[in-house]
Amino acid sequence: MSSCNKLNKLTHEEEAIIIHKGTELPFTGEYDEHFSKGVYACKYCDAMLYLSKDKIKFNCGWPSFDDEIEGAVKKVLDTDGIRTEIVCANCGGHLGHVFTGEGNTLKDIRHCVNSTSLNFVPEDQVKTGQAIFAGGCFWGVEYYMQKKPGVLGTTVGYIGGHKDEPPYEDICSKTTGHVEAVKVVYDPVRISYKELVRLFFEIHDPTQIGGQGPDIGEQYSSIMFYLDDKQKATVENVIKILKEKGYSVVTKLKEAVTFWKAEDYHQDYYTKKKGTPYCHVYKKRFD
Ligand SMILES: [Zn+2]
Repeated sequence: MSSCNKLNKLTHEEEAIIIHKGTELPFTGEYDEHFSKGVYACKYCDAMLYLSKDKIKFNCGWPSFDDEIEGAVKKVLDTDGIRTEIVCANCGGHLGHVFTGEGNTLKDIRHCVNSTSLNFVPEDQVKTGQAIFAGGCFWGVEYYMQKKPGVLGTTVGYIGGHKDEPPYEDICSKTTGHVEAVKVVYDPVRISYKELVRLFFEIHDPTQIGGQGPDIGEQYSSIMFYLDDKQKATVENVIKILKEKGYSVVTKLKEAVTFWKAEDYHQDYYTKKKGTPYCHVYKKRFD
């Protein structure tokens, strides 16, 4: 388990599959022929595992998917030494098996999952967490945030200035007062806001004044934009710990205002470029 130690109570039938790695009878499960918009979460720990858009019709008798939520499912060699077992990466609960080379979809992979291991959450009831970080060049902050297990998605953009939908040119000319920032959407079961805040302070230098790394200018300032009082208190606490460790933190705390998505060519910059950041490095600052 990572951030969440809370596990749901299971029935004997659920235990037989999720804990003791059993298999439900084909064509009997609740989600075999289930096609609604939403998320399939782990029955045991509630971590989000599969999106409905990745569910495929395969007629094997069990719910099938050709993709998983990044990092949510762990693949291990089955005790039979042949098949690949899939388990929830968060709690280790048994899900089923994964097969490749069947040629069923373009991705050519099929996660064959027991309905019993899943709990469907309709789209309008999915609970994700959100966080906004400004810590220098948004390409670099996004690069590290995307790699963190539990992060579902990131968007780079601009925040804190006085112009709507500012283009990148305005940010560079420093006329609008915006800073470069990253919006992170995460699964609160797999990672907490506090863990993300700690990561943020480990991937940039919160003691640098007037810029970040080689990037100089107010648009690269270190600012935490909190979305509610709980987030604000969490950040204050993490900064207090850093100050106790001797860091002269200059990071500002501001209430979140409108986040403007940056141009498409800025999104997923290092993933598309297959590069690594020049502007940020990971440095462990917490025990
Ligand atoms: Zn789980």
